[in-house]
Amino acid sequence: MSAITMRELTKVYPGGVRALDALDLDIVDGEFFALLGPSGCGKTTLLRTIAGLEVASGGSVHIGERNVTNLPPGKRDVAMVFQDYALFPHMTVQDNIAYPLRIKKVDRRERTGKAAETADELGLSALLQRRPGQLSGGQQQRVALARAMACHPQVFLLDEPLSNLDARLRLEARTFLKRLQRELGVTTVFVTHDQAEALALADRIAVMEGGRIRQVGTPTEVFRRPANTFVAGFIGSTPMNLVGTRVRGDELAVGAARLPLPDDARGQVTDGERLVYAVRPEYLDYSPTQVAGALSGQVVVVENLGSVSLVSLDVPTDDTDGGASSVQVVVAEGREPDPGDTGWVVPRPGRSLLYRD
Ligand code: ATP
Repeated sequence: MSAITMRELTKVYPGGVRALDALDLDIVDGEFFALLGPSGCGKTTLLRTIAGLEVASGGSVHIGERNVTNLPPGKRDVAMVFQDYALFPHMTVQDNIAYPLRIKKVDRRERTGKAAETADELGLSALLQRRPGQLSGGQQQRVALARAMACHPQVFLLDEPLSNLDARLRLEARTFLKRLQRELGVTTVFVTHDQAEALALADRIAVMEGGRIRQVGTPTEVFRRPANTFVAGFIGSTPMNLVGTRVRGDELAVGAARLPLPDDARGQVTDGERLVYAVRPEYLDYSPTQVAGALSGQVVVVENLGSVSLVSLDVPTDDTDGGASSVQVVVAEGREPDPGDTGWVVPRPGRSLLYRD
């Protein structure tokens, strides 16, 4: 068993930065788990604390039944792959892969055999005598993975595993990594600030902010049902629209516009209550003519994204002080309005959410 359990895990760096703030997290045995969040939210610190490269200031980390909180990295049975791969430039691929076995004092013949076996699994057999400088970025990444795999650790920890690869290689490496993790079935935690990568790869995702976890869920859960406005604004290739609103009977008032109250909010909200209305740009339809139950505003920016365009409108949100929100809507090719046009955006039924924060 190699589930990872963290309880009230805290890391305060010298100088007082609280990078992890009494964090609780359960990673299931065999899971491919992503730590996602903006720069500085504590992802790398959390990964390094699981690895034992940082000492926790409080709380605990268990791997399976073992309390590893105070164990040094070498005793935790984890392998970490660093963002820059950290290969030894003067050693061959074979020696790089075999290095952790050498540290463990495995004899030379067994080392060479195991390195060859792992290299074979990762399609590196033809490259064993090369040095890292003679490899592509993608090949270097595979060598780093092979080095991590050679010891058959209980847990893999990957720090931004794809960030050093160009866009095309990254897609290829993503598929490769996902397949490899499935085949090996080893509990794997990876750090990324790229929400698309987390959604594509992970079984579950923890979204972090300020040393805390704001939501844990499957990609579908965090995408469809963000737990709060922070996650709603963070997940999705274009963030969710978040607009201030007030309950008016069975409608929601946004400025002078009225939207139907989502079905699942009936009975859950009180008349006059202020809420945040959230809907993805993909789940709004644009209309150049007036429609009931729609928000209206002036088109300010039209961004061409290839087969679709992202249209931003300034929507008046408050009758009293003239406030406005920027609302984005995805519009099919050929149907784009021009900046300066007045347009209406209609939420699709069952696709909007309400938040109290
Ligand atoms: P990024 O995506 O930019 O790598 P991150 O989410 O991985 O960010 P961390 O690197 O874990 O964030 O940093 C969390 C916080 O701890 C930040 O405020 C950072 O400045 C601080 N921090 C990280 N390492 C140290 C250190 N060695 N000493 C002091 N503060 C640190």
